[in-house]
Amino acid sequence: MSDSDNATMRSVDDHLKTVLDTVQLLAPMELPITDVNGLVLADDVVSAISLPPFDNSSVDGYAVRLADLEGAGEDSPAELRVLGDVAAGSVHEGILEPGTCLRIMTGAMVPYGAEAIVPLEWTDRGTESVRITRAPERNEHIRILGSDVTAGDVVLKAGTHLGPRQIGLLAAIGQVHAPVHPHPRVVVLSTGSELVEPGTPLGPGQINDGNGPALTAAVNAMGATGIRVGIIGDDPQGVLDAIEDQLIRADIVITTGGVSVGAYDVVKEVLSTLGTVEFSKVAMQPGMPQGFGTVGEDRIPIFTLPGNPVSAYVSFEIYIRPAIEKMMGIETGPRNTVTATCFGAFKSPDGKRQFARGVFDPVGLSVRPVGGHGSHLVGDLALANALIVVPEHVTEVVDGDDVEVIVLDGGPR
Ligand code: AMP
Ligand code: MG
Repeated sequence: MSDSDNATMRSVDDHLKTVLDTVQLLAPMELPITDVNGLVLADDVVSAISLPPFDNSSVDGYAVRLADLEGAGEDSPAELRVLGDVAAGSVHEGILEPGTCLRIMTGAMVPYGAEAIVPLEWTDRGTESVRITRAPERNEHIRILGSDVTAGDVVLKAGTHLGPRQIGLLAAIGQVHAPVHPHPRVVVLSTGSELVEPGTPLGPGQINDGNGPALTAAVNAMGATGIRVGIIGDDPQGVLDAIEDQLIRADIVITTGGVSVGAYDVVKEVLSTLGTVEFSKVAMQPGMPQGFGTVGEDRIPIFTLPGNPVSAYVSFEIYIRPAIEKMMGIETGPRNTVTATCFGAFKSPDGKRQFARGVFDPVGLSVRPVGGHGSHLVGDLALANALIVVPEHVTEVVDGDDVEVIVLDGGPR
């Protein structure tokens, strides 16, 4: 690489900044709570009801009046008449009379007049009458109305990341919908006349489309919606039509292939005339040729990634993941890294930030490089769970060096 190449290349940080300055948070909408897993709440949620919604028993036992059990002990059990059962979901009509008790199940409404619940374990479990060997305190084993959530309280704040526990709370307070930033719809389009649909016998010169399924999976794993469009050959009109067709339903478009300087690099050719897409050399390896901009009336962000599968995937992790996060309302920025000891040595190009594939050990905080530098090495990519980030000025990593690592698949973002 010559110095002039270095001078014209854009840095990884600048490219990410351009991306994040362009993409916008998606406007809030109400979605069914069955559909909000992984999304971010756009507004505070106020509970219309209190939780528990009524006083109820926290154990299986007997609902009692305190006065009836004064002085009850192992040697002086109290004996009470059992009037009947209160099961969860049923209600005892009337007031608990002195000298009597009710057998009550966990979650059942505490009858009027009852002041505590005696667990089965403190009794002889009688059904007609029961002997009780220990006196409870007032409200013991009773879950008091409103002791968890009070009607009118903000129970979830805007900006909360919704997962199973938050969805459980929404359901518990009876919310059917929640105001959220919706799932970005991300259209993934593979270009290349050599590509065939996996499962089709390979003819001479053909390869399977790996990028489409990989990037769609990466999108879906984030809680966004990946929409994989079929393969588009290296034909300018075909590429143009395919992109324009998708704009109606896309919040982001990703293409792979066709952005180098070869004769059939048609994505570059057609997008140079449509929208605001800028094709840059970014000082990174893999993934140097990057195109990014907006297309169509609605200025849909489009990423045109290089076709090599490792380049395409790394580009997703470095640029597209943060972009999708911003659209979803997730706090975002450059990827976080963890420091690890590198077991293995390799070279890195001067002036480019390298993202080498590695196997990270979170217990030993070490990482082992896998595979070579080739951007076509999908076998090695599948073994990796991390990217080793080698800074632009570093030309060699020596065995035992501390390196910075992006942990893939749920590592610190
Ligand atoms: P390109 O960016 O179109 O020059 O492609 C670079 C390399 O990536 C070529 O070897 C392509 O055959 C390969 N490639 C392009 N698209 C895909 C894809 N969707 N899946 C797997 N390999 C691809
Ligand atoms: Mg190509």
